[in-house]
Amino acid sequence: MAQIKLSNLRHSYSSSPAGDADYALKKIDLTWEDGGAYALLGPSGCGKSTLLNIISGLLIPSEGKVLFDDQDVTALPPARRNIAQVFQFPVIYDTMTVYDNLAFPLRNRGRDEETVKRRVTAIAEMLEVTTMLTTRAANLSPDNKQKISMGRGLVREDVNVVMFDEPLTVIDPHLKWKLRSKLKELHQRVKATMIYVTHDQTEALTFADQVVVMQDGEVVQIGTPVDLFERPAHTFVGHFIGSPGMNVLPCEVRGGAAFFGGERIALEGPVSGAGDGMAEIGIRPEFVSVSKTGEGIAAHIRKVADIGRHKVVEAIAHDSRIHAIMDGEAPDAGDAVTLEFNRSQTRLYKDGWLASSPEGGAR
Ligand code: ADP
Ligand code: MG
Repeated sequence: MAQIKLSNLRHSYSSSPAGDADYALKKIDLTWEDGGAYALLGPSGCGKSTLLNIISGLLIPSEGKVLFDDQDVTALPPARRNIAQVFQFPVIYDTMTVYDNLAFPLRNRGRDEETVKRRVTAIAEMLEVTTMLTTRAANLSPDNKQKISMGRGLVREDVNVVMFDEPLTVIDPHLKWKLRSKLKELHQRVKATMIYVTHDQTEALTFADQVVVMQDGEVVQIGTPVDLFERPAHTFVGHFIGSPGMNVLPCEVRGGAAFFGGERIALEGPVSGAGDGMAEIGIRPEFVSVSKTGEGIAAHIRKVADIGRHKVVEAIAHDSRIHAIMDGEAPDAGDAVTLEFNRSQTRLYKDGWLASSPEGGAR
């Protein structure tokens, strides 16, 4: 296992890139610590697979370096990097049995049959495919084929990193949650560095200790699931994580104070990254309270959606849409209400980036 460092990485699929727009990866500096459970999260096309393929050696970056434990591997082919990669669609040998498929990466490395048997048996147990070991892979359902593909990625004990590129795409929805928690459990047992690529926030947040959020060829934030929820570094993270995402409201900053529709809004603490001018207030729906009689920002209710455990209220104030999540009694569409923002969770964003600090000092 190894620490993996990406240094000054840029990648363009074009042979003569003209500007930033021609780069699938714009500038990446990133360290993956040994043994970590990471998710790489971002919308389709943001560069996740490109980044993964550069780590595995399927792609050579246009610029920058890939270091495994400070050793430069940028030019090494995949076979010499000692990594395991699981792809979106199963990569298995149809004519082989499940056992032989799982054994393949070990036999390929010249491991003795006793070790092969021990590892294959252990992995099959973890993935609950023990009863299929003698079945020919061709006869498996797509779900099970992908499980075996994942097993092939996990069977070796000596890899630097196991990378999963949207491995649950072909898995039936009701099996997804099961495999997701299985992977988490597997990480805790095998303790290998794992990078799990997904565009699905739930998958990322359940699997990872650290989530790397990407947008348009750049990393916008690295943090724990709680960090991403509580202090999005960028409004993109605020939108992308959460359901519904963070409310982002236009505001004006004057003398260190923020005004929404002319009303002063108390922020978490001092404005740290913006002078006077237009900016945005970020507040999660979980931290907006709605009342019929209280103080606060005058608003009216446009919609109320009951989503089981709680209700999502859509209100309009100063021509902006504001979501609030409520438990219990909710107002009706058309009602006049007031909104209050939990001050410690009310943040300022300038040009998309977090520009307020918590009271009592920066984090
Ligand atoms: P993701 O995995 O996040 O969906 P990709 O890394 O596959 O994103 O793609 C990032 C960008 O690079 C996209 O704009 C995509 O169209 C482009 N791209 C990916 N693969 C190739 C390729 N082989 N040739 C040219 N452009 C590519
Ligand atoms: Mg991809």
